Amino acid sequence: MIVMKFGGTSVESAEAIERVAEIVASRSKRSPVVIVSAMAGVTDQLVSMGQKAPSGDCEISLGALESMRERHLHTASELLGKKRAATLASRLEPYFSELENFIRGLAAVRELTPRGSDYLLSFGELLSSIIVADAFAARGLNAAWVDSRECLVTDATYTRAVPQMAETRERASKKIMPLLSKKRIPVMGGFIASTREGVPTTLGRGGSDYSAAIIGAALDADRIEIWTDVEGMMTTDPRLCPDARTIKQISFNEAAELAYFGAKVLHPATLLPAIHQNIPVYVLNSRNLKSTGTEITAQAPRSRDVFRAITAKKAVSIVNVVASRGIMVHGFLRSVFEALDRHAASVDIVAISEVSLSFTMETKRLPQALLADLEQIADVTCENDQAIICLVGEDIHGKPGIAASVFNTVAEAEVNIRMISQGASEINISFVVSESDVPKAVRHLHEYFFPAGKNKMAIAKRNGGVRERKRVNGSASGVRASRLANQKEKPAGKRAAAGTP
Ligand code: ASP
Ligand code: MG
Repeated sequence: MIVMKFGGTSVESAEAIERVAEIVASRSKRSPVVIVSAMAGVTDQLVSMGQKAPSGDCEISLGALESMRERHLHTASELLGKKRAATLASRLEPYFSELENFIRGLAAVRELTPRGSDYLLSFGELLSSIIVADAFAARGLNAAWVDSRECLVTDATYTRAVPQMAETRERASKKIMPLLSKKRIPVMGGFIASTREGVPTTLGRGGSDYSAAIIGAALDADRIEIWTDVEGMMTTDPRLCPDARTIKQISFNEAAELAYFGAKVLHPATLLPAIHQNIPVYVLNSRNLKSTGTEITAQAPRSRDVFRAITAKKAVSIVNVVASRGIMVHGFLRSVFEALDRHAASVDIVAISEVSLSFTMETKRLPQALLADLEQIADVTCENDQAIICLVGEDIHGKPGIAASVFNTVAEAEVNIRMISQGASEINISFVVSESDVPKAVRHLHEYFFPAGKNKMAIAKRNGGVRERKRVNGSASGVRASRLANQKEKPAGKRAAAGTP
């Protein structure tokens, strides 16, 4: 049995849903369970209706609801033809009436609670899954719509509910296994669940991947396929480097680092239920039927490349905090970290020396009040328009010379490095550069560490790179790079608080 999850862009239109049907048909012998997101943009629209209606004026929200209704009915009629679409429309209309009543209710009570918000957002996935199931049936697939709220059990932490695995396992198997044994294809909405008492909940924005992992784990799937609109995870952003290629295999930890430092394909944390059970997860391209994509597993085999990928996280600020004279060093660090804690600040990279500390944060998440707080204890400067470049790969562990090649390459690109970090786990090397230097630095690094397939010279250069470069140490870039490498060893920059968002 396999789980196939299709994201919002994969079900955004009749044409996209056609492709989904074809892909699922090609897997029909493997007993697929299909999980779909809301049609692209729908969850955002529901969120905005829920924000506007409580102001008392619900006309805008009702207008948006009407376009949403038209979009769904139009997609259904394109997929199903007149007669069948009319039957489906009569099944969908009650959902739209329920939504309308709810929006009027919001305008009356002037409040949207977290519980109400989950109820509201659940409609996106309910509608898309019903349409997809019917489109499958119309194409000869033996589909059966399944109400996710009857399979996934969570606690009552509305908007970010926590799955209750034992009960989910029980309910999901009871609902889904009999369908599979009758060779039916269950189709269900991602993201939505319910409490033990049946109150609708959601798993947090982007939660359909999480649903796929939960259902996969609950039913002991052979594999989980996350179908999206790109060709898996890439060695770097293809808009920066046309040579970027798909990563064939990657470990869970590597994928998590990549996501944290800017790769946008998926939040690996949501795959944990599957990874814990050793179920491989594939990220595939729904625009390419033959997609082989990226395989994510707990442990991935070594690749011929030193790194798995290079990523860049832009719109970052560096904050420099320098202890005013007279402050005890240990007291200084404690007060800085306490300030970070008080403002629930999630920092990316931290570099510490005896009397100063620099850290980076996404500019939009940097509270001004934190800076004001820090100014009470130290001299503070802040620089915007910075970026973190991160090279990820478990194979770098215990290998000498890798950092030197990285920094040599950056020096050759004539890019200045502001901060450096390599944690003791040695799964990534990251450093901060000015945002405008990102394209140059990433292109050079990608060319060096991921030489194009048949470029033997480049591969030889890479494999012998460390030794070869020692010889050029007298050159300007060599001197600069070794200085950078020293810089790295001394202040021992460390990654802190690296939870995946
Ligand atoms: N539709 C939900 C969202 O947009 C869940 C998902 O797409 O994964 O957040
Ligand atoms: Mg989505």
